Amino acid sequence: MRQFADAIDAGASGSDLGAMPIPESFRAAHVLRNEQTMFEGRASADKDPREAMHIGEVATPELAPDEVYLAVMASSINFNTVWSSIFEPLPTFGFLDRLGRESRWGARHALDYHVLGSDAAGVVLQVGSAVRNWRPGDRVVVHCNYVDDQDPAAHEDSMMASNQRIWGFESNFGGLADLSVVKANQLMPKPTHLSWEESAVNALCASTSYRMLVGEHAARMKQGDSVLVWGASGGLGGYACQLVLNGGGVPIGVVSSPDKVELLHQLGVDHVIDRSAEGYRFWADEHTQDEREWRRLGKTVRGLIGEDPDIVFEHPGRSTMGASVFVAKRGGKIVTCAATTGYMIEYDNRHLWMRLKQIVASHFANYAEAWAMNRLIGQGRIQPTLSKTYTLDETGLAAWQVHGNLHEGKLGVLCLASGPGQGITDPDKREQIGEDKITLFARHAASLEAANA
Ligand code: NAP
Repeated sequence: MRQFADAIDAGASGSDLGAMPIPESFRAAHVLRNEQTMFEGRASADKDPREAMHIGEVATPELAPDEVYLAVMASSINFNTVWSSIFEPLPTFGFLDRLGRESRWGARHALDYHVLGSDAAGVVLQVGSAVRNWRPGDRVVVHCNYVDDQDPAAHEDSMMASNQRIWGFESNFGGLADLSVVKANQLMPKPTHLSWEESAVNALCASTSYRMLVGEHAARMKQGDSVLVWGASGGLGGYACQLVLNGGGVPIGVVSSPDKVELLHQLGVDHVIDRSAEGYRFWADEHTQDEREWRRLGKTVRGLIGEDPDIVFEHPGRSTMGASVFVAKRGGKIVTCAATTGYMIEYDNRHLWMRLKQIVASHFANYAEAWAMNRLIGQGRIQPTLSKTYTLDETGLAAWQVHGNLHEGKLGVLCLASGPGQGITDPDKREQIGEDKITLFARHAASLEAANA
């Protein structure tokens, strides 16, 4: 794959790239089926992605008619890479086996290794016989909605398709590798003003936040809406805050350190709550929630913005859901896409029904939503939240950082890119949008590291 990287760096044409043979194997970050029970008996926090993640050569799969081979220049760590590499809540090999039973092409995925990764930026190398809109040489980013079009439900909203999957989590051959196979309907144009790693970190988290807040299927935020964002400087939250600000809303960010408060202020979020400083204890013990603590949060939010939030952007799950349902305004929405701290949720239903609130479920995004989000990034209206960049060999370390909540924003991973900062093809546009804006999260992380050195 290095030959492809050199050819891409040297500006090879699409036809030159298309004529180069695809190697029989490639370097990939993967977990192994025969290690899926390795963490049994350990507490979740002690399960270490560095122990489970392998970096090594795997065989190149055959290309299906609706797929492309992609030279992956950069990828990113998503929380699903953490889940896969600690084998929680389930090992992902069951997903691969189910896909394997679906079709001849699905059978390629049911292997004893799982190549992880649900984000990528790269260059199309070869296209399958049914691909119409993309050609070798195209510079692209990849969204992770892995779906085909033979279910009628997919035509209204592809997230409703019965065989909808998340690429690199519920399918094999994900983005944390030098090569990937990707369906043509996962491709989107790479933002020309961003580097490979800045381009690679956005699609999964930004598109998820877009559907949760902006798209027509979830909370449908209006101008002026106030939105309480949990984990506001994290992967999802960093994009959620920007979308609220962009859409004329008022974000109230919740984070867990003064450094993160400062980062959010720099992002333009005026109202930020440091949950660590406040010392919220929504759960008095393992079985009992403390409504007084919900009230204390509600009072803080009212003190900041003078009202209860129209929308609560939920993903921590068990630790916060009771509080989220409580603090949403009468008639408000709690939009949820995850449950990092536990999926057996408890809330007081009286606060939901008596005040006519709604809990709205959301999951990733359909192609149109991901495309709309990518357009905002391409226009420079939403900035990447890349805070730090790792090499592919350091994938386990990067996933461990996310597992331990030691990061801000998104962590990028260089695959074939020869170093950080490559791949920008429109420097004028970058200058116009502003280096300061584009690199806010990275500069903040660097200054923290320097201060702690
Ligand atoms: P992330 O980068 O780790 O950010 C999550 C944030 O949650 C952290 O920054 C942390 O912020 C906050 N948090 C952690 N524990 C908390 C607690 N006990 N109470 C309140 N806040 C807490 O992860 P992410 O990429 O945003 O993903 C978050 C979750 O969403 C994960 O479970 C992921 O799997 C899921 N997800 C789902 C989809 C989907 O399509 N359904 C898509 C993307 C992600 P502070 O410590 O600063 O408060």
